[in-house]
Amino acid sequence: MRIAIYPGSFDPLTNGHLDIIQRAAKIFDRVVVAVVKNDSKSPLFSMAERQHLVGRCVEHISNVEVDCFSGLLVNYVERRGTDIIIRGLRAVSDFEFEFQMALMNRKLNERVETIFMMPKDTYTFLSSGLVKEIARLGGDVTPFVPPPVREALDAVFSSTLPQSTV
Ligand code: ADP
Repeated sequence: MRIAIYPGSFDPLTNGHLDIIQRAAKIFDRVVVAVVKNDSKSPLFSMAERQHLVGRCVEHISNVEVDCFSGLLVNYVERRGTDIIIRGLRAVSDFEFEFQMALMNRKLNERVETIFMMPKDTYTFLSSGLVKEIARLGGDVTPFVPPPVREALDAVFSSTLPQSTV
């Protein structure tokens, strides 16, 4: 049984993340989307909310599960009884950071392999950060995120729309 771990902040999950999850689910027997608790980033959504939202968006894919972890990714990967990490590559700009992370993770545990996957071209410009910014400014995020995420973003920002300066 080949299990792959797809770690990330998922704050929140976008259609780009979902595209990677769907591709990985075709290749591996099981894909674990692992929401990371990262205290150095201050997320918009709590761990529980991020995990819940990912869960709702992947419930139609039978071999995908959602989990969360804190601490070193390589330790979590080992606890889950696997050695495969999935990461998404959007553009050359992602490459340097991802390359460094992959090699560091290999240094920490030489059995771990990082597999990079590319999303559909129309999602290469998408990031959670940009989606939050658009939602915060009252823009329509419908093309960029699954419906449960759009509803959650609407709930956060509907009462805090920026005042018009005109
Ligand atoms: P992190 O905080 O670990 O970067 P993210 O949730 O931002 O977490 O991203 C998790 C993974 O998904 C990363 O490998 C990132 O490059 C990838 N990713 C993010 N957005 C997209 C996208 N639009 N298309 C493909 N991969 C993406």
